[in-house]
Amino acid sequence: MSPVEVLSALNPLDHFISRNFQKFSGHSDTSFDPVVKDLPALIDVATNDPAADNRLDDEKIFSSLPPLFRGHPEIHLRKGIIDAAMLGATSEVDAERAFFVADLSQVFRQHERWMKNLPEIVPHYAVKCNPDPYIIRLLAALGAGFDCASNGEISQVLSIGGVDPSRIIFANPCKATSFVRSAAKAGVNHMTFDNADELYKIARAHPGAKLIVRILADDSKSICRFGIKFGAPLEVVPSLLSKAKELGLDVVGVSFHVGSGCYDPTIYGDAIRRARDAFLMGAQAGYKFTLLDVGGGFEDARFETAASVLADAINLYFPDRKGIRLIAEPGRFYVSRAFSLAANIIARRAPMNEISLEPLDPRSTSDEPSVMYYINEGVYGAFNCIMFDHQTVNPYVLSLKGSFHVSSSEPLSLCSLWGPTCDSIDCVCKAVELPSALQIGDWLGFDNMGAYTICAASQFNGFKFSNVVYTTSKVGGDEVRRALCSFAAKGYGHGSGPY
Ligand code: PLP
Repeated sequence: MSPVEVLSALNPLDHFISRNFQKFSGHSDTSFDPVVKDLPALIDVATNDPAADNRLDDEKIFSSLPPLFRGHPEIHLRKGIIDAAMLGATSEVDAERAFFVADLSQVFRQHERWMKNLPEIVPHYAVKCNPDPYIIRLLAALGAGFDCASNGEISQVLSIGGVDPSRIIFANPCKATSFVRSAAKAGVNHMTFDNADELYKIARAHPGAKLIVRILADDSKSICRFGIKFGAPLEVVPSLLSKAKELGLDVVGVSFHVGSGCYDPTIYGDAIRRARDAFLMGAQAGYKFTLLDVGGGFEDARFETAASVLADAINLYFPDRKGIRLIAEPGRFYVSRAFSLAANIIARRAPMNEISLEPLDPRSTSDEPSVMYYINEGVYGAFNCIMFDHQTVNPYVLSLKGSFHVSSSEPLSLCSLWGPTCDSIDCVCKAVELPSALQIGDWLGFDNMGAYTICAASQFNGFKFSNVVYTTSKVGGDEVRRALCSFAAKGYGHGSGPY
């Protein structure tokens, strides 16, 4: 008997629904299946109580974008699973496709948090982190600026309308000449540099640019370090500034980046001190700097501490800052928690015992994973964050054996999770405890999937990008809709392009 055969049978959900589809779609009897049974009740609660966090009605605010639903993300995760089961019953290809639920209220709440803790610093959202069209529109409507790394990101932001190019900083210290030229054409003047070649390039392609010298910061306390690639050490700043003067360029300020995912916010204090030194070097070179850009790196869990370190350091090193504009380039802080992912278990395999080829018991208490589950998102897709962003992800069960209810007494066993491609590097979790009863057709959920996920996903092996369902939950939901509707009413955000 092969090891796979000792695993119990397939999740009966899709067989059952396909056999009973007539009955199911006619709503005649749904009592037999817990998933099907749960949904009408869920939707009833959602639609009948206008004050509930659960109203599911959608709104088409922008003609080129999918609708914006209401209701807690969890409801939409469940609804997506039900929809997938129904599609599966009609034999639709890719019916069980993984999907995200994005809660725009969460982005709004982060913006409020930012404004409360750092009211002096204008956030310029780092588009690279998640260039989602709703996120860009929402942040544009809320008055944020944008940090763009390329011509493409600049075009995306400007194409929605309503964002003046002065709200964009081209924050890539090493740009293609043609990108500098097109930034000039688009009226984007603020751009960073950290080397002399960039100055020659800008002198030719955009001599009227407002330049920001990116200095090297201590990035040793961050998950993703950038110092090996970007940032001028303070020792070279004076010569860079004198070269800029010689070329007739206008340097207006200083930026730094402490690295993405900064887990020791005290590092911002040191970076601000370095920035102050660079301001003094600017004065010595004959410039009067008017801009301080404190970069990104803000972690959700440590944000208040980072904000207080920053505010104290700014007070200490820039006590007289009249005439100095403060900006930042936060990325993950805004979007990380706003996206959840639902992925379907499409296959499973019992790992072979290499020596005896004996099957392993899936309920085994060994510290080796007992079952390999294959899900329909992997490291070539949204889970690229595992490789590029050094993340570990934490799956939880969304539906088990056709039910959304997972008892806390469900026996667990150690298993591994794999993406859908044919590459063995495509491993999502090497070892994780999940219910032993998980089967093909069950769904797993992953939270905190908004940052550096979708933006770097590929379609390797022909697997499509996962769709996004948009919603607003209770706290901040009305504010999001008001902001988006008023943005749309001014004629912005309706572009028919891909964004
Ligand atoms: N600014 C620049 C120049 C970056 O390279 C990045 C991230 O790569 C960010 C801002 C955003 O950083 P974070 O998402 O950590 O806030």
